[in-house]
Amino acid sequence: MNWTKDTPGYDEERRGFQLLTPHRPDQIVGATSTADIQRAVRSAREQHLKVAVKASGHGHVTPLDGGILITTSRLNQVSVDPQQQTAWVEAGSTWQQVIDAATPHGLAPLSGSYPGLTAVPYTLGGGLSLMARRYGYAADHVRRIEVVTPDGELRKAEDDPDLFWALRGGGGNFGVVTGMEIDLFPVPTLHGGSLYYDLTATPEALAAWRDWTRTVPDSVTSAVSVIPFPDIQPVPAPLRGKYIAQIQVAVIPELAQHSAGEGDAEPARRLRDALGEPVLDTVKELPFTESGKIFDEPARPDAYRSRNVLLSELDPTALATIPQLAGPKAEAMCIINIRHLGGVLSRKPNKDNAIGHRDAQYSLTVLSPGEADVRDLQRATLQPWADHTIGRSLNFSYGPLTGQEVQDAYDDYERLSRLRAQYDPGELLLPNHAIRARQ
Ligand SMILES: Cc1cc2nc3c(=O)[nH]c(=O)nc-3n(C[C@H](O)[C@H](O)[C@H](O)COP(=O)(O)OP(=O)(O)OC[C@H]3O[C@@H](n4cnc5c(N)ncnc54)[C@H](O)[C@@H]3O)c2cc1C
Repeated sequence: MNWTKDTPGYDEERRGFQLLTPHRPDQIVGATSTADIQRAVRSAREQHLKVAVKASGHGHVTPLDGGILITTSRLNQVSVDPQQQTAWVEAGSTWQQVIDAATPHGLAPLSGSYPGLTAVPYTLGGGLSLMARRYGYAADHVRRIEVVTPDGELRKAEDDPDLFWALRGGGGNFGVVTGMEIDLFPVPTLHGGSLYYDLTATPEALAAWRDWTRTVPDSVTSAVSVIPFPDIQPVPAPLRGKYIAQIQVAVIPELAQHSAGEGDAEPARRLRDALGEPVLDTVKELPFTESGKIFDEPARPDAYRSRNVLLSELDPTALATIPQLAGPKAEAMCIINIRHLGGVLSRKPNKDNAIGHRDAQYSLTVLSPGEADVRDLQRATLQPWADHTIGRSLNFSYGPLTGQEVQDAYDDYERLSRLRAQYDPGELLLPNHAIRARQ
């Protein structure tokens, strides 16, 4: 399927979830097969045009102006091998599609907080799942990748150690992935949800979450979002108009019992004991198909900008600055999301794939909805964290970054840059966050 600027449906096809700076390609190829992707890449190469790829467009940052946009949403088959506990996932499959295919076999993938994300780009960027501290990054559990490299060839990346290394963490810089085989895990349910605390009544909520994260086993992955909720109808009544700390908890049930000697409900109960009753509590046993309820993120497309830092520790002094710098009185709305890392994420060997900064213990993102330029506000919000910042996650960076800021995401940018020069010397691909080909 093809669109040009004057074809009906062009606008719908070029847009994704992120409404900021949409692509304006000369041509769009709505891929329904691997051959479509090969043809599009070869055609761009012959005409000296740039190629960008759009899946669901949640992570979209870098607009393509002219050139060819490949959209992958129609390439969305998922097949599960219950014996091997793996799934073959095509380029445009959402995590919800993978979850729905895996759960009838009692299996689950390393999907993230929002199941509407596309599995392949999430994983190419590393992929921080609801079970991250127990199993590591999603990219650590990729067995095979099929990819159309910028020369138009379809390759099995696992046969080429350099390409396989670079794709797992290096994003869309090395080719257009058509599908990948990933590990699944025997986790039919999670014990999870959110505890919402009003920060005016419970100002100690952030510090208490921080202290609690230092006590939990690897089977507990959690985060906190700090949100100034507007006083409007769609917001649930207990949260309306309040400055809320939403503590998001995902416990892998059986493992929690075995590794910590505590029941599934115990970690959340300990938080409640420390902080008192929350204004809203959604924590319960959930079938994995409902894992999106844990973070309960909005499903409506929007414009948003964010900056992320990876931290060696969560400094209590910096934590205390959030309400002043990014609270309800800030010049633009700021949502802070802090995810607890460590566990197996830090213990996997750091040279297996391109993922950087495995020793990070927390990831902190400041996100502002809307189109306003909030760069100064977001930089000021992150300033108190400077002493403990060791890098950044590109998956959580929604906004243009400098070349140096992209480099800061990796431990071995030099190798990535060399490999970009090997596979894409003319920089045919326009990835979200560019690794520049070494000259
Ligand atoms: C609400 C929300 C929740 C999130 N939760 C998590 C989370 O829990 N964990 C986490 O790790 N991340 C999370 N993210 C970040 C997410 O992983 C990134 O935004 C990622 O880019 C996925 O976005 P997408 O599926 O919409 O892909 P798109 O935005 O469509 O694609 C992003 C980029 O990936 C590349 N790409 C896409 N498809 C291909 C392909 N087939 N081959 C090669 N390159 C390709 C391109 O460079 C493209 O520009 C979240 C984002 C949002 C908005």
